[in-house]
Amino acid sequence: MLRAAAHSVKQPGGLTASLCARRSLQNRWFSATRVTCAETAFPSLDSFSDEENMLRESVKRFAEEVVAPKVREMDENETMDPEIVKGLFEQGLMGIETSSAHGGAESSFTSAIIAIEELAKVDPSVSVLCDVHNTLVNTIFRKYGTQVQQEEWLPQLAESKVGSFCLSEPASGSDAFALQTRARKDGDDWLISGSKMWITNSAEAEVFLIFANIDPSKGYKGITCFVATKEMGVQIAKKEQKLGIRASSTCALSLDDVRVPAKNVIGGEGLGYKIAIEILNEGRIGIAAQMLGLAQGAFAKAVPYTYQRVQFGQPVGMFQGMSFQIANAALSIESARLLTYNAARRKEEGRSFVKEAAMAKLAASRVAQEVSGAAIEWAGGVGFTRETGIEKYWRDSKIGAIYEGTSNIQLQTIAKFIQKEYS
Ligand SMILES: Cc1cc2nc3c(=O)[nH]c(=O)nc-3n(C[C@H](O)[C@H](O)[C@H](O)COP(=O)(O)OP(=O)(O)OC[C@H]3O[C@@H](n4cnc5c(N)ncnc54)[C@H](O)[C@@H]3O)c2cc1C
Repeated sequence: MLRAAAHSVKQPGGLTASLCARRSLQNRWFSATRVTCAETAFPSLDSFSDEENMLRESVKRFAEEVVAPKVREMDENETMDPEIVKGLFEQGLMGIETSSAHGGAESSFTSAIIAIEELAKVDPSVSVLCDVHNTLVNTIFRKYGTQVQQEEWLPQLAESKVGSFCLSEPASGSDAFALQTRARKDGDDWLISGSKMWITNSAEAEVFLIFANIDPSKGYKGITCFVATKEMGVQIAKKEQKLGIRASSTCALSLDDVRVPAKNVIGGEGLGYKIAIEILNEGRIGIAAQMLGLAQGAFAKAVPYTYQRVQFGQPVGMFQGMSFQIANAALSIESARLLTYNAARRKEEGRSFVKEAAMAKLAASRVAQEVSGAAIEWAGGVGFTRETGIEKYWRDSKIGAIYEGTSNIQLQTIAKFIQKEYS
């Protein structure tokens, strides 16, 4: 669906580059019907191209019609329904920014953010599957892969194979570059040994981007990124039982002399640390979008209930004590939305975005937790049951403060920018 949308709407906008500085995006197109830069030099942050609006509608429909009926069962069983993964591929949602030559939708980064947000409104687990696959795995191939590597891997990732990003280990989380996994040369191949932990999508994945150190004497400058598969020896070990996003698989990986051909080094030997830093900086905008969608999903489930539930002769949502809480939650969601979209647009425009991405992720994860927690209370006892699905949003929200950099790590990033500016 996205693929079709991308091709049918793609057209040059006819807008001057100077006027569209905020919107001069490599892969975005503006149709005549959109509020254009010519009409408004600085369009609002929630102003989207026709293509992006169409994408939002199609993902929303997919999430409501295909994902929603399976959310509770997948959460209870702690598994991702393969039909949903298949559906994501069929919808063109697994190669959003990938070029059409490589089987993708060739769409904008903001399109990926919109898809992640819309999926998270219904199920943050499905959202993170799509997020990691697009914003981390595909992006690494697109940004750092050679032409040959892109031709080999991107079509498979757009059409049928799920990818995983394998950086964290038992002893290296926030301090990711202390990783212990090693790779040593053996003829024309590399042999990778060690273990990885907390790897999202690993139960479904067929393509693994593994970070290993080829020369520990060089410290983090020995870290290198490799593409590996199960056929090469990647073994999926323990699957974690989690508080939230339970349908999203999170497993440990066992790497025992995984034999990877030299051609599977991505971006050059010793450049893995650079790839990981850069990719996580932009990946954080994806997590912000996931948390934003989650907050909106919880809000939309609980608020209508407060207007139906009558106590003391009136809908509970109409009591000032409740309506002010609801208004405050709406404000928090809107703030997170603007931070997230702004970080996404800055990235697309080629402007600095690292501080903004950290702020967006930090704020959106806080808002997700705050709003989903309040939503349980707004629905009273019903909100506390698993039947309504409101409590699931709250369980799912906790991960926003942990993965792709904990909240403290986001604060550290923001603080560094402030120190640079003011000291
Ligand atoms: C469900 C899930 C999915 C994940 N998916 C992936 C994945 O796909 N790929 C992958 O590579 N990793 C993944 N991770 C790993 C994730 O990125 C790490 O869990 C995260 O970076 C935190 O590392 P840690 O768990 O080791 O916590 P630690 O680093 O041990 O942190 C523990 C606490 O100490 C604090 N802390 C640490 N250092 C500092 C500091 N310098 N200053 C202040 N406070 C500090 C942290 O904020 C945190 O509160 C996933 C994790 C989970 C739980």
